[in-house]
Amino acid sequence: MGLLYLGTPLHWDDAKQYADHVRTHGITQFLHIWDNLKDRYGDELLWGDEVEYMVVLFDNEEKNAKLSLRQTEILAKLQTITSDIATDTGDIGSVPTFHPEYGRFMLESTPGSPYTGSIHDLLSVEKDMRYRRHLARKYLKPNEIPLTMTSYPRLGVPGVFTEPYYSPEDAVSSHSLFVPEEITNPHARFPTLTANIRRRRGSKVAINLPLFIDEHTPRPFVDPTIPWQRNIYPEDPEAKQGAALNDHIYMDAMGFGMGCSCLQLTFQSCNIQEARRLYDALVPIAPIMLALTAASPLWRGYIADVDCRWDVVSASVDDRTEEERGLKPLKENRFRIPKSRYGSVSLYIADEWLNRTEYNDIDAPYDPAIFDRLTQHGIDKALARHMSHLFIRDPIVIFSETINQDDTTSNDHFENIQSTNWQTVRFKPPPVNSSIGWRVEFRSMEVQLTDYENAAFAVFVVLLSRAILAFNMNLYIPISKVDENMDRAQKRDAIHTQKFYFRKEIFAYGVVSPLASPASSGTTSPIEPNGTSGIPRPKEKKLRNCFAPVPPPPNGDAQIFGPVEEEYEEYTLDEIINGKGESCPGLVNLIYAYLDTLDVSPDEFRKIKDYIDLVKKRANGSLLTPATWIRNFVRSHPSYKSDSVVSQQVNYDLMVAVDEIERGARKVPELIPPIFCKSSSVDNI
Ligand code: ADP
Ligand code: MG
Ligand code: MG
Ligand code: MG
Ligand code: MG
Ligand code: MG
Repeated sequence: MGLLYLGTPLHWDDAKQYADHVRTHGITQFLHIWDNLKDRYGDELLWGDEVEYMVVLFDNEEKNAKLSLRQTEILAKLQTITSDIATDTGDIGSVPTFHPEYGRFMLESTPGSPYTGSIHDLLSVEKDMRYRRHLARKYLKPNEIPLTMTSYPRLGVPGVFTEPYYSPEDAVSSHSLFVPEEITNPHARFPTLTANIRRRRGSKVAINLPLFIDEHTPRPFVDPTIPWQRNIYPEDPEAKQGAALNDHIYMDAMGFGMGCSCLQLTFQSCNIQEARRLYDALVPIAPIMLALTAASPLWRGYIADVDCRWDVVSASVDDRTEEERGLKPLKENRFRIPKSRYGSVSLYIADEWLNRTEYNDIDAPYDPAIFDRLTQHGIDKALARHMSHLFIRDPIVIFSETINQDDTTSNDHFENIQSTNWQTVRFKPPPVNSSIGWRVEFRSMEVQLTDYENAAFAVFVVLLSRAILAFNMNLYIPISKVDENMDRAQKRDAIHTQKFYFRKEIFAYGVVSPLASPASSGTTSPIEPNGTSGIPRPKEKKLRNCFAPVPPPPNGDAQIFGPVEEEYEEYTLDEIINGKGESCPGLVNLIYAYLDTLDVSPDEFRKIKDYIDLVKKRANGSLLTPATWIRNFVRSHPSYKSDSVVSQQVNYDLMVAVDEIERGARKVPELIPPIFCKSSSVDNI
């Protein structure tokens, strides 16, 4: 989330007059950053996570678990507390930061300063996350608890699901049939974003998730909880006019998507080239990690037949008009746009020979005038395509006070477009006048119920990112196949039911797998596990940046590739993560090979291994995903009627259980390995 300006937001009718102004100046601002920082080199690995929480209020008399709408007061309190701690300890850097989020029941936390590449920092992630949660817990009311649930099971049900209660009839921004105005952060940016998306689109957003059909689910399922006949807002009839599908869970507001929580990671790169290379490598990893972290099977009081939030969030901010969605001929609008502005990445961006043009094989419209402007400025086609693709979108929120900016000192217009393109991976240019370098943000993962799991996935991805760079891994597959993987990742129990496209030969040409036996290796990898070449290399003290670039193609000839379709195959998650014979080494084994290049003590190694084991066991099915665990909890609850409904009582008991799991008070060995439960209690902070 960007900075929150105080100011007067424009209604869509006014804001749209400034769309070209914002885009033009946004690009000017980007070019200014480019001119100053394109050659910036040598930034160390700094990285950090973002964890999002939902504040749940337990009404133990009514046995109702509701969303607490006290975000404003809670954040003010936490800001006072954290600045007091900083003053007391004189240590501003390590004091966590809490941020507002879309939902008025949400909080976001980040480490006070980014982690470095030290092993110490790697092993401090869990402690840091738990400290943040501990602070949030401590300064909430006694019956309020910050839970890391990806979707809130009863957001938008009839009756009381927030504290205090508000009627959805007052939803002046979203016009929702289900969620009141007050679930949205009151800062002007958020109601305006909500209303302007609806206005630009020309209707409410329409989200239909397939319902999980259980033994006693009525068929066809015509949702009795939709107020079909309501007649307050002009869009109220949309539901009965076809927006709400039978056998689906229908949702109609931004809050259903942007009210979800997730786990994000940001990595600083050595330079722009390495950032672009890492960005591309993480694109095919995004659906894999989404499937492994699946945590959101419950929506608006029902069990869904999907396990993940992604498509809900995507549809919840889909501001495309009917013309842009291809339902009408283009007249007012300039482009047919295949995806919502919250969507999977559509273009690879590395300016390297490994990035074959054939991989960018889906329709990714771009603004030709912006593309020309960027290329005439000397920017290569791959990056120009990326930026001019992001810039087909309109700015949704414009504050009248910040229309005119100094493009040499502000990046606000650039960020207006950039940060409302919510994709699986984000390429983040350095902010103006800061010490921050080129960064890549990994955005697909669902937040986990415990910080042990959140830390495990953070540690896994940062180590994987280093293994990718250190071993010159080539993970490219066509973007169309990554998109297919995104669909599969969200399917119920994807781990057991789906296969995923993945590259067969995952080392760049001229690079030998670090797992290859010494006899078979001709050329060598940039970092060799000890012993590969017979000469032990000194072990490195830290995770780092600035790896050797991908070697040039043999004989300088990039025409060594065969047909793209022969480069990939379908694998199970177990095969991708844990390996399948020689052809598919398994990401976990590459992480171990990378760890072998580091100076880690046996004790540190054991701790890292515990984290990697979680991912390993998710992939091989020996541990459940949170989605499966939550689904099973509901379906085996004594009061569940096998009718796909998540009642108030089931939800209450589920939230109690989630809180107990998080505190280590409830053992769930099918979800969390016992080793964690010992160390998890908040008293250990
Ligand atoms: P956003 O919401 O825009 O994605 P946040 O400020 O919420 O961004 O989170 C950014 C994350 O990046 C935090 O975890 C923070 O610790 C981390 N971070 C901050 N500075 C750097 C840096 N120079 N390099 C890498 N990560 C950084
Ligand atoms: Mg956030
Ligand atoms: Mg953030
Ligand atoms: Mg931010
Ligand atoms: Mg968010
Ligand atoms: Mg983020």
